[in-house]
Amino acid sequence: MYTVKSIIDATKKTHPQVWKNKGNVVVFYTSIKEWKDTEGRKVKTIKARATDRAAGSGRPQYLEIDYYGRGKGARVWVTCTCEYFLYNCEVALWSDESSSVRWSNGKDPNITNPSKAPRACKHLLNALAFGADKMTTKYRSKKIVDREV
Ligand SMILES: [Zn+2]
Repeated sequence: MYTVKSIIDATKKTHPQVWKNKGNVVVFYTSIKEWKDTEGRKVKTIKARATDRAAGSGRPQYLEIDYYGRGKGARVWVTCTCEYFLYNCEVALWSDESSSVRWSNGKDPNITNPSKAPRACKHLLNALAFGADKMTTKYRSKKIVDREV
C-alpha cells in the first residue's frame, strides 16, 4: 500500500499540473468513520464531495480515503469518481492495493500512465495535502483550506 507521501511525490514528478490544479478544488467532508479491519488494523475512512472552482458549475466528484496511520507516512486506499482517476490512477494504485477496480476495466493504463506511477487526481490530492486524516466529525461538511501537512 502506498503512503500519502509517495502518491504526492509521484504526481508532482510525473504530472505537476495536476498537483497545481488541486488548488482549485474545494472539498466538503461528508463522512468520517474510525473502525478496525479484519486484521485488527485501525482505519479512518473519509468520504467527501469535491468541486473545482475553475470549472464553474462542474459536476461534483466523490472521493473516499482509508487511512492506515496519520500524516504523510500513512498508508492509504483511495478512490474518486472523476475521469482522471479512472484513466490514470485506479489500476496503478490497485497494483499495490491502494485502490480497487471500481470504475475502470482493470487493464493496464498503457497510454495514460505506462509506468504505473502511483498518481492521484486533483480532488484526492487536495484532501491528502491538506490533512484529511486530521478531520473529526466536528469538521463535517466544512471546507478545509488552511492546513497543509
Ligand atoms: Zn478525482
